[in-house]
Amino acid sequence: MIIKSDILILGSGVAGLTTAIKLAKALPDKKIIVATKDRKEESNTKYAQGGVAVVWNKLDSFESHIADTMRAGDYENNKEVVRMVVENAPDRLQELIDWGAAFDKNKDSKYDLGKEGGHSANRILHHKDITGYEIQMTLLNQAENLPNIELLSHHFAIDLITQHHTEAKQTTFGDPSITCFGAYIMDEQTLAIDTYVANITILATGGAGQVYASTTNPVITTGDGIAMAYRAKATVRDMQYVQFHPTSLYEPGKSPAFLISEAVRGFGAYLRNDKGERFMLPVDERAELASRDIVSRAIDNELNRTGADCVYLDCTHLDQEAFVKHFPNIVDKCQSIGVDVSKDMIPVRPAMHYLMGGVVIDKKGHTSIENLYANGEVSRSGLHGANRLASNSLLEALVFAHEIAADIISHQNKLDKDLPKVPEWNAEGTTDPDEMILISHNRKTVQYIMTDLVAIVRSNERLERALDHLDYIYRDTEKLYKRVTLSPQIVELRNLNACAYLIVKQSLKMKENKGGFYSLDLLD
Ligand SMILES: Cc1cc2nc3c(=O)[nH]c(=O)nc-3n(C[C@H](O)[C@H](O)[C@H](O)COP(=O)(O)OP(=O)(O)OC[C@H]3O[C@@H](n4cnc5c(N)ncnc54)[C@H](O)[C@@H]3O)c2cc1C
Repeated sequence: MIIKSDILILGSGVAGLTTAIKLAKALPDKKIIVATKDRKEESNTKYAQGGVAVVWNKLDSFESHIADTMRAGDYENNKEVVRMVVENAPDRLQELIDWGAAFDKNKDSKYDLGKEGGHSANRILHHKDITGYEIQMTLLNQAENLPNIELLSHHFAIDLITQHHTEAKQTTFGDPSITCFGAYIMDEQTLAIDTYVANITILATGGAGQVYASTTNPVITTGDGIAMAYRAKATVRDMQYVQFHPTSLYEPGKSPAFLISEAVRGFGAYLRNDKGERFMLPVDERAELASRDIVSRAIDNELNRTGADCVYLDCTHLDQEAFVKHFPNIVDKCQSIGVDVSKDMIPVRPAMHYLMGGVVIDKKGHTSIENLYANGEVSRSGLHGANRLASNSLLEALVFAHEIAADIISHQNKLDKDLPKVPEWNAEGTTDPDEMILISHNRKTVQYIMTDLVAIVRSNERLERALDHLDYIYRDTEKLYKRVTLSPQIVELRNLNACAYLIVKQSLKMKENKGGFYSLDLLD
């Protein structure tokens, strides 16, 4: 079946929904489809705890937020983009508040601004420790009340449609003549693959945390958008920059890992090793509040040095009443595994958390492919550089949603152009997989290759070894992909493998250690 819309948005997290809402309000006679592969509320956005960074009062300044973002990013950021995001933050947050998002206030009815690692001021707007849930629900409520948005849950995008499909044209990476005409999307209930043609397509499919065995990201985070864009020959960069969150709750065998928000350290918690020592003190003048790459590496070092499985977050000296009020979700979770935060230390270790790299976009959200935009964690805008500053990613999606919508609105004539004839998906010659174990085994293998060989500390030897292993998985997966009827599982495996390959390949090109990339072969 061919389904036509003016604008097709893939993904229903903060990036996809905010862009959809802005476009739907400004262009009420245009049809916007938001296709999302799970339940409509399932996303990384929903799990965000800490909040959104914004300069909100005179005690803070844009220059300070810019400086902190650049420092965290190891000065690999695009300063113009950093300035644009930071300076637009107050307006975008006010808009979100006007749409109904409730951020916590203090006794004086002023916003209670939290502090997180790498920030030199209190500037985090939050809703207890479930800020992402509050934002996700606010946006869904807005989107569902706009008649020109059609929200399709359990609709899994498989591939972008370009001239590769319409003219069987061969293209090279970054070729500016490549144009996107929509996407092939699987209805997960019927497994039918339909052809969704659109004048504009927006990728908002999030990150790729599931490339690693240990991650804070939910199981849907399989780098689909990055892999689809890469297959369509879009420019993808900075995949070597992977952010490991220093403090995921240590629960052996549990995936995804539960996050103990950075805001807990911002609130005054200490990191201690198994001897009770505050090992961050000699590492960085900011101690526990150094940026994530520094804290994660210090923990990794501590674990390797002591042979322990985890380090500890000590909250026992903090005002317990205030702590419970700020972090009810974290306190409950700890309680559920027998950790009483007022008396016990919380066992933690780093886990993959955020991907700085992705589909390259400019300040208006354009990718290298005509009529294809990207927003949110799937994109690489230049804001984060080599390492994202805490609470800057929800913000990035809010600001870029505004820029993308403004760009589409000012080029509305593109929405009226005729589209070429697009062939429907051809599933001939494939059969149902009788051995799903082959797919799930390969998925786990990719995750362990990456966790063991391509994590916080890398080396050329480990990267080369990982590449060999991934190459085998690639060949095996391609054989399966050609043979079996498509399922979300095989598509996700293919996408995970593509993202893993890009992380390794782009790591091997590095000449210097920066932010979320660190190799033993490049020590000074
Ligand atoms: C535990 C946790 C805590 C965090 N805390 C914070 C924080 O405090 N502050 C902050 O700024 N950031 C935080 N982050 C990061 C932040 O949540 C994400 O970077 C951000 O939400 C990404 O938004 P997004 O819209 O780009 O992607 P997501 O919110 O992940 O949404 C992606 C959407 O795309 C859909 N999708 C994916 N693939 C396909 C496909 N093939 N077809 C159709 N749909 C698809 C998904 O189902 C989902 O709806 C946190 C992340 C985690 C995991």
